[in-house]
Amino acid sequence: MAFLLNNLPWAADGYESVDQDVEDIRRLHAECTAALPGDRKPGHVHVGLCPAVLDDRPCCAQLTASAASHRIRCGSCGTEWVGMDAWRGLRRAQEGTASPVRSTAAIG
Ligand SMILES: [Zn+2]
Repeated sequence: MAFLLNNLPWAADGYESVDQDVEDIRRLHAECTAALPGDRKPGHVHVGLCPAVLDDRPCCAQLTASAASHRIRCGSCGTEWVGMDAWRGLRRAQEGTASPVRSTAAIG
């Protein structure tokens, strides 16, 4: 094994290159992280309507997720979804309320 490794100088060069890349990534990441707190636009995205039901009526407020937080909070009813599991549940709930027109119409 030692003989093989000693006769693969390009492998060593490769490792050097990787180290360099990692340093570049570390530096860039450090710069990005340092830039975040001062940035007043942390990347909000609309993630659908609030599926919470209040007084038998869906809240339907526009929900916004932030890239800087793992918490989605409804600004209207205050319902919160924290973490990916909760977000998946939110998504399912939204899909459940996205096409209830037929079933409610049949009941009503
Ligand atoms: Zn809500």
